Amino acid sequence: MSTKIALAGIGKIARDQHVPAITASPEWELAATVSRHGTVDGIEAYDDFAEMLDARPDIGVVSLCMPPVPRFEYAKAAIAAGRHVMLEKPPGATLSECHALEAMARTAGVSIYATWHSREAAMVATAKYWVSGKTLRRLEVIWKEDVRKWHPGQTWIWQAGGLGVFDPGSNALSIVTEILADPIHVLSSELLVPENCQTPIAANMTFAHPHGAQVSAEFDFRKQGDQFWNIEIETDQGRLVLSEGGATLTIDGRKQNTATDGNQLVGEYPRLYAKMAKLVRDAAIDMDLAPLTHVADAFLMGKRVTVEPFIE
Ligand code: NAP
Repeated sequence: MSTKIALAGIGKIARDQHVPAITASPEWELAATVSRHGTVDGIEAYDDFAEMLDARPDIGVVSLCMPPVPRFEYAKAAIAAGRHVMLEKPPGATLSECHALEAMARTAGVSIYATWHSREAAMVATAKYWVSGKTLRRLEVIWKEDVRKWHPGQTWIWQAGGLGVFDPGSNALSIVTEILADPIHVLSSELLVPENCQTPIAANMTFAHPHGAQVSAEFDFRKQGDQFWNIEIETDQGRLVLSEGGATLTIDGRKQNTATDGNQLVGEYPRLYAKMAKLVRDAAIDMDLAPLTHVADAFLMGKRVTVEPFIE
């Protein structure tokens, strides 16, 4: 039997990924949307979240796809109304609001899921398996994309709490924190902030690793032409390159094939929704804040450099 879910914040990611993943899954029924401007054909639409929560007590789960800053109030209202909550990444604009949401969910006895879609990319689990048990020598993240191409008109990215280049950068950090067994922490960061923006258009980070491996990340929103979403890893037993955001894996120069038993779900968002269904079934919570912690630390440690204004 399918579970009724409401999707709130009908924008780019809701249309590109959430709606197709929900409608393709027998576990879910898209029962309503909540958005001030967006709707989904054939689905009951609300433009007010409280109204939807009041009108549809039969909808037990909400998935929140708006940008991070407004998301807290939606999540809080949903938990207060006894609904399970799925959060787009990053789970919030601050760490403390994420901790508060987790505490509210535990008190209310509902599930909450801080999703990190890149962790579900096709080759991340294989990369994690290969890295485990080896000695890490170097890890380098190179995450460079054209903001005009991938985030057209998304002015929230440049406002306080919008994260700037850490919006995609947190995807890389979600993979790094998934595949490394040892915890790392930020040693230094440099934030290149356009003079007309509140958030960085590019950033560099270095991390401390408990066994001395060199760990660094380079994020840039100004990349034109070839786009890079790569993580390179050197160990005592070979070299791994995870590219295309985790979709492609090369080990010692040999491209690896996706391991599948034929029953695996294909795609990041179908896997996220399957995990959410399991969390609800198990009355469980998944609120891993490690990627957002590194982003917050990059801001805490960030040496700020003002760069030319960003004009879309
Ligand atoms: P978006 O299209 O700019 O925004 C999504 C929707 O959120 C908007 O259509 C808007 O709907 C609603 N919204 C915007 N500001 C709001 C506010 N102040 N209060 C309430 N609702 C508001 O952004 P997006 O690309 O879908 O990204 C949304 C989230 O998904 C972000 O956290 C992002 O990191 C994540 N994400 C995005 C992508 C991607 O490729 N774009 C990929 C993975 C994850 P209404 O105006 O109709 O209310």
